[in-house]
Amino acid sequence: MWTIIYLFAILTPMKNIKTETNIKCSLCQTPTDEFENEDILYYHCKGCEYIFKSPIYYSDFDTQKERYNLHQNSDESDGYIAYFQRFLDFVLPFVGTSKCNNALDFGCGVSSLLSKMLTQNGIECSYYDPIYHPNNYKNQKYQLIVSTEVFEHLHNPDETFGELLALLDDGGYLAIQTEFHPNDIEKFKKWYYHKDPTHIVFFTPKSFEVLASLFGAKVIGDNGKNMVVIQKDYRCK
Ligand SMILES: [Zn+2]
Repeated sequence: MWTIIYLFAILTPMKNIKTETNIKCSLCQTPTDEFENEDILYYHCKGCEYIFKSPIYYSDFDTQKERYNLHQNSDESDGYIAYFQRFLDFVLPFVGTSKCNNALDFGCGVSSLLSKMLTQNGIECSYYDPIYHPNNYKNQKYQLIVSTEVFEHLHNPDETFGELLALLDDGGYLAIQTEFHPNDIEKFKKWYYHKDPTHIVFFTPKSFEVLASLFGAKVIGDNGKNMVVIQKDYRCK
């Protein structure tokens, strides 16, 4: 009998088994599956596809700041300008520059480049970052909020999502850039994006659809890769 149990134990790969847990998705409260990769525990929501690292791997504010200081981009770089231009090329057709005249870049980092580029497109844009521009916060309403490479760092993205929607005018737009995960555990393990220790939560377009619906908003477009545009739905206030 013990031999059979022993054999079963060595034939069964204990590591990386996907198992159902009692941990619920912090976005939609659906039960999650657990998996492990490189000694980090992840939870994968069966409802909205959201994946989050166990909170024990979340960094404190100072550690995050040290990490962000390592990869600052230059506003002069052509590559950086092209990078933001791709974002604007996707987002602005949904927004319509003629109808929109004020915006906020939330979590801009050191750079105000995206804000400047929006202003050049006729949309006056403020910028705010809790680490680099903490005094720029204004309690006012915006027609557009953009947030690039921010959501994957958030400990409580649903709270931030709700706070940003509250800053939007009715019918206003929230445009987010964060890499969408492949929604396949084996592919996820080979994916580069979670290797940054400050990247702790991962989305698919479905995660944003579910999240938006919880706040009476709706996804009006995604590029299938890393960009999503959400509209605060004035009919569902
Ligand atoms: Zn979920």
